[in-house]
This record gives sequence, C-alpha cells and structure tokens, in this order.
Amino acid sequence: MQKVITTNPYDDDHLHEECAVFGIYGHSEAAALVALGLHALQHRGQEAAGIVTHDGAQFHAHRGIGLVGDIFADRTVIARLKGNVAIGHTRYSTTGEPMLRNVQPLFAELEIGGLAIAHNGNLTNARTVRKELVSNGCIFQSTTDTEIIIHIMATTRGTVVDRLIAALRQVEGAYSLAVMGQDYLIGVRDPYGVRPLVLGQLGDAYIFASETCAFDIIGATYVRDVEPGELIVVDAEGIHSHRPFPVTKSRFCIFEHIYFSKPDSIVDGTSVYEARKRIGIELAREHPVDADVTVPVPDSGVPSAIGFAAESGMSYDLGIIRNHYVGRTFIEPSDEIRHLGVKLKHNANRAVIQGKRVVLVDDSIVRGTTSRKIVEMVRNAGAREVHMRISSPPTTHSCFYGVDTPERDQLLAANHDVEEMRRIIGADSLAFISIDGLYRAMGLSGRNAADPQYCDACFTGDYPLRLTDRLGGNGARQLSLLAESA
Ligand code: AMP
Repeated sequence: MQKVITTNPYDDDHLHEECAVFGIYGHSEAAALVALGLHALQHRGQEAAGIVTHDGAQFHAHRGIGLVGDIFADRTVIARLKGNVAIGHTRYSTTGEPMLRNVQPLFAELEIGGLAIAHNGNLTNARTVRKELVSNGCIFQSTTDTEIIIHIMATTRGTVVDRLIAALRQVEGAYSLAVMGQDYLIGVRDPYGVRPLVLGQLGDAYIFASETCAFDIIGATYVRDVEPGELIVVDAEGIHSHRPFPVTKSRFCIFEHIYFSKPDSIVDGTSVYEARKRIGIELAREHPVDADVTVPVPDSGVPSAIGFAAESGMSYDLGIIRNHYVGRTFIEPSDEIRHLGVKLKHNANRAVIQGKRVVLVDDSIVRGTTSRKIVEMVRNAGAREVHMRISSPPTTHSCFYGVDTPERDQLLAANHDVEEMRRIIGADSLAFISIDGLYRAMGLSGRNAADPQYCDACFTGDYPLRLTDRLGGNGARQLSLLAESA
C-alpha cells in the first residue's frame, strides 16, 4: 500500500508537550489577567502562547509563536480580546517546526456552541484514538494530542460536561485542562493528578492555573488544588465539583518539585522552594564532600545548593553567573545549538572559584551536555577540584506524561553507570540523590515500591499510566517489564 504523506509530526513517533494553562471566569479584564498569568508561567513553555475570550456575543482569539510578553505586547491585541471569561496557554514543544495551527487554546464550534481548550500534559493513547477518529471521517486541524478530546466531544451527546467526561473516559495519559465556552469555565485534572492545577479567586472571579505563582502576579488568592480526577465547573451559579472517574491513588509528577515548577509556587500542597532545599539537605547527608565552596548551577540548582551547603556547613557562593536573556538550554532543538546555548547561558565567576575545591549542585543530568560544559568551564576558571552533586536520581527513562525528555538512547544515565558518567562529564566525583532520599525530602519514609506516592517513571521506569501508543494495550505492564530487564 502507498504510504500516506502528511505534515503530521505524529509520524516521527514523538509527542512532546510541556505547557501551562490559565483560565478566568467573571472579570472584566479577563484577557489582560490571562496574559499576566501566562507570563508568570512562562517557564513551563516558551515556544508559543494564545488566549481565547468570550464577550457575551462572540469569541475572540489571538495566538502567536514566541514569548507571552512579545505576543501580547501590542495593547490593541488585549483590547480586542474582550469578555469576562478567558483561557490561555503557553506551549513548549521540541518536534518539527512550531506551527501556528498547533498553538493552543484550540477552538471549535460544536453543536452545543463554541468551545476552547488548553491542555498541560500528554495523552498516551492519542495516536491510537486519532487513527480511529480519522478513519471514521474526522478532519483534524492540528497535530496536537489535545484535539482528540474535541472530536470525541463533537460526536457524543448531552451537555458540555457530559461530553467532556465521555471524552476524558476515552483518553489515557496526563492532563490538566482549562476549558471554556460562552458562559462557563471548567478545570479538570486526570485521575492520577500527574500535572498540577490550582483554583484561585480574585474578587468574585474564579481562576484555574498550572501553578500558584500565576495567582501572585495578579494578586489573586489560592483557594485549593483541583483534586486528581476532579472536574470543576464555574458558571453564573458559582462553582460545582464533579468526580466522574473511578478513584485511584494519585501519582503527582515528582519532577515538578525537582525542576519543572517555579520555586515560588506551592504545588501539590508543598512549597517548591522548600522541597528543593530539603532535597539538597538529603543529598548532602547521602553524599558529603570535603570541599571549600558549594556553587549552584543557576537557576534550577539554586535552592538545593542552599540546602546542600547548609547541611554540609560549607560556604555557598555564586561561582557561575547566568545570563538571563537566554532561554532554557533544552529549548533549542539541535545538539549543536544546545552546546552553544550552554556557553551563552553560563559563565564561571573566577573570583569565587580560583584555587578552590568546588561542589557544583544541579537538578538533573539528562544528556550530560550541561554538566560537561560547566565542569570544564569551572576547571578553566581555576578550580582545584570539581565535584558534582545532582538533586535527582539518574534520569534513566523518558517521560510520556508531559515533560520533554529525549529517547532512552540519548539519556546519559540509561547508557552509563555513575562512574562512567563521572568520567564523561570530567568531574572529580559525581553523586545523585537516591530515590529513597528524594522521597524522604518529600516528607515520606522512603519510596514504597508497591505503592509509590509520586510518578517517578523517569528515574525508575515504573510508568503508572498506560502507554498505549508506544506499546499497545498493555503498555504500562510491558514497559515495567522492559524496565526490569534493563
Ligand atoms: P543535559 O545538559 O542534557 O544533561 O540537561 C540537563 C540540564 O537541563 C539541567 O541543568 C536541567 O536544569 C535542565 N533540564 C532537565 N530536564 C529538563 C527538561 N525536561 N526541560 C528543560 N530543561 C531540563
């Protein structure tokens, strides 16, 4: 049979989405508040952003490629986005070219009226369901996994809530969604609660956001987390909570605490900053170093380096200075540019480093590019010894639930033991926090292998949600077998 040629990046077998959502109901400045909220959530996705509003008569939308501040810089854009209800999205994707048609919120006209949807997470059966929908005649406008939700909603019956629940019962994977129509706003989290979603209030207006830092920027108050498996509808009558899914134990993503969330946010009921500091303390207990100074790899290594230095009784100094006008190193797609990105982003501070035995603290080693460059840079700046401490266990597995990680063949820890990794990055010593140490830092006694509290698949290969697209119907089990044999 002839191969069907498409512009669909699903064809390359990758799904990469890392995102933030924000929605507000009941405020006359809805679009401006969404833009501010998205700006505070910019760390979750820097590729593209969009806002959809409804003004009582019609919908308005604006989407663009780039940073929130640039896309919405023109005041006339926000002025045009009229209405008291609005949702927004920032997107991070690493496959193919950023395409405007993939920029969320997605919008569709259904039998029940117009509907916009913004999604953080990854659906793990999107390709399988999409194939089915396409063979039944659905015409997709984008290549994002999120669009399958809209198509299922379009072809089921009932109210918007009935249809959304019907759609979400058919999808697998991680999702925190903000959904809006002309007179409602909905926030919903998957039953495992893999990605965060919080509910806030500003006067009489209700807000959903990926993280609480988006409330702080607009002076809104945090009300509570949207619970795993909970669907909250906000409309003229107030807020109504639904629990349409069978109860399961939640598995919040532990990497949100390690790296992804912003340190000034409270996620999953815990201050991200405090959690990172406690991880640094555990790391120092597990892997002490006889050295002169603790230096964070900015920015993500900073809180854990503070904890590490305090626990070690060692001085803490800024031996690496970060240029704030460069995005995260991961964002650039090619290896070549990623190397360049690291050099553009960090510079060694000779005044702190020269002649010293330095402990560098970073949050993770993925491909090893950053660590290798940083160790070399610190040595070139005159360090006598360079020790590396990592505030996560080795990243041995890819994430399929919404954090961008490369395939296993590119993960340093999937292919080398710690001693080999040490040699590759050129450090005098290298150590990672243990998985039990990480759980201890989160206030638990260790990882309960039979029933872990978090999704830690990137460190353990224990994937809690089925990976249908990758491995067929029994994906989760097959993958854990793979992990065992690895
Ligand atoms: P690498 O250079 O490939 O080893 O990547 C490690 C660096 O990337 C660390 O300094 C992290 O702060 C950062 N990092 C880790 N995971 C991610 C991610 N999913 N997206 C963007 N940056 C990341």
